[in-house]
Amino acid sequence: MMIQHSLARIHEKIIAAAMQCHREPSTIALLAISKKQSAEKIRDAFYAGQKSFGENYLQEALAKQKQLSDLPIEWHFVGTVQSNKIKMIATHFDWVHSVNQFSVAEKLNRARASQQKPLNICIEVNIDEEKTKSGVWPSAVVDLAKSMVTFPYLRLRGLMVIPQKNNARDAFQKTAQLQQQLIAEGLLVDTLSMGMSADFELAIAAGSTLIRIGTAIFGERIQL
Ligand SMILES: *Cc1c(COP(=O)(O)O)cnc(C)c1O
Repeated sequence: MMIQHSLARIHEKIIAAAMQCHREPSTIALLAISKKQSAEKIRDAFYAGQKSFGENYLQEALAKQKQLSDLPIEWHFVGTVQSNKIKMIATHFDWVHSVNQFSVAEKLNRARASQQKPLNICIEVNIDEEKTKSGVWPSAVVDLAKSMVTFPYLRLRGLMVIPQKNNARDAFQKTAQLQQQLIAEGLLVDTLSMGMSADFELAIAAGSTLIRIGTAIFGERIQL
């Protein structure tokens, strides 16, 4: 399917899902996850109206950013933040969704250039407390969030989650509750980054404000 058609279909589904739970569709942002998709496809999606793109692998992202430098794209980093890549991640992206420890935030803050806008960040929550998965334990999220507000070059926007497949609804609801806890603590967080191609409707029902969609926009990923 052409990208403009698949994008239009996703937007229709976002609207339908929002209506079903009496939410305003415009409160749900669509982030196109373009890992292992070509720069040409990103360009097509941009011309079809999609302005923000998420990448997981730094080298791959930098190559595409170079090819697409003529477009005012908002770039999000959603992959694992390796410490030897923090400097480049801090300066080449507008958002990082996968901050999973204090030291990562500290290094991102230090590396972010002072003449740039603050880097938007989300804390990645390991909501199902899976031993093999990265992300912050739910019980540690509030303290970590509070510790981040002192960084001048970071702006904490909220939480990101990738739930286990079999119990996404529950995981999304728990993450939304954690977000409410942050708000109750006085933190000005506005972003719940949750929902992917297979489960974004459930995420919207639970309160997601940003869904991250890859294959449903671009088709299967390829080896670049
Ligand atoms: C790959 C990826 C997505 C998109 O997954 P799809 O199933 O292709 O929609 C979303 N979020 C993160 C963090 C990812 O790594």
